[in-house]
Amino acid sequence: MSSEKKLHPETYAITSGRPKSEAGASLNVGISLNSTFEAGSGLGYGRYGNETWKALEIAISEFEGGETLTFSSGMAAISAVFSILPIGAPLVASNQGYSGVMTLLKSFHESGRLEVRFVDVTDNQEVISALKGAAMLWLESPTNPSLDIADLQTLIAAAKKMNIGVGVDNTFATPLVQKPLALGADIVMHSVTKFLAGHSDVLMGSLSTNDPALYKRLEDARKFNGAIPGPFEAWLALRGIRTFVMRFEKAQSNAKYLVEQMKNDKRISRVRYPGFGAMISFEIVGDAQAAERVCAASSIITHATSLGGVESLWERRRRWEIESHVVPENLIRLSVGCENSGDLWNDIAKSLDAI
Ligand SMILES: *Cc1c(COP(=O)(O)O)cnc(C)c1O
Repeated sequence: MSSEKKLHPETYAITSGRPKSEAGASLNVGISLNSTFEAGSGLGYGRYGNETWKALEIAISEFEGGETLTFSSGMAAISAVFSILPIGAPLVASNQGYSGVMTLLKSFHESGRLEVRFVDVTDNQEVISALKGAAMLWLESPTNPSLDIADLQTLIAAAKKMNIGVGVDNTFATPLVQKPLALGADIVMHSVTKFLAGHSDVLMGSLSTNDPALYKRLEDARKFNGAIPGPFEAWLALRGIRTFVMRFEKAQSNAKYLVEQMKNDKRISRVRYPGFGAMISFEIVGDAQAAERVCAASSIITHATSLGGVESLWERRRRWEIESHVVPENLIRLSVGCENSGDLWNDIAKSLDAI
């Protein structure tokens, strides 16, 4: 393990998940296009694993700690977690967060699949009170798109003291900012689609855990629910991880610069930025239609959903019917990419004229 060797993230981003070093070895893992494997090894069948997934899983494990399983999307990874909870199990979760997860949890709650206790994750007391008798605490921090912060350290410690399982969606912060497993969480989840893969060309998800019994249950969920990643997608995601650290650092420094410009612009009424990362949500002085015009007016930033790629994207989140109604109608979520920060600000400043 590189943790023993004390390598740094920008190093293991590049060295992890390579084929064994020997004369003539390939530098990169191949794209394993196999539905089956000769008997006698650990692999067996294509739905159970292959060497391309494994290489990617080793790389993600270097970042998050624990052992990693990859899935066909972030939602597939989250669904695997919820699928191992008993029918009707009480689950404590944020009352606003990624719209896909919120939609899934609301439908689980309505059907009785889970008893979801929706809480304000910025209020420690409210979360801790809701934990009594719960089976699991599911946290997303910072939240998408409000960029609210949960006090992970306090909440994870409180839940573990009560013997409650904790899962954390670490998609926005990334392991360069916070490592939930090191704080005591049982599971850390990623939409690998976003910052880890980083090029808006692949959908994938991951779960990492330090608990071998839990790993086995989640691995079985992947095997038998069948939401497995494609080998080419796994290869692309691993290729993306090679540059994850430098991409994230560049995007983060761009975001910090843009936040400063935005705070001084009278056409923007509120800027939400947690002080780290590459996501900014801001409210314009104007209504939903004005926000739509701003998003449509840019030439460098693409008007599109999703995030975490080298290319900057923005959108008015409430254009989606499933987005939480606590999110303001005029809120624009900007995923800051790796372009030049001055070019980005010029594009934003020009687009704001469309208000
Ligand atoms: C995108 C996203 C997801 C879902 O991931 P997919 O790869 O789109 O399935 C989950 N959580 C957060 C915070 C996200 O941004």
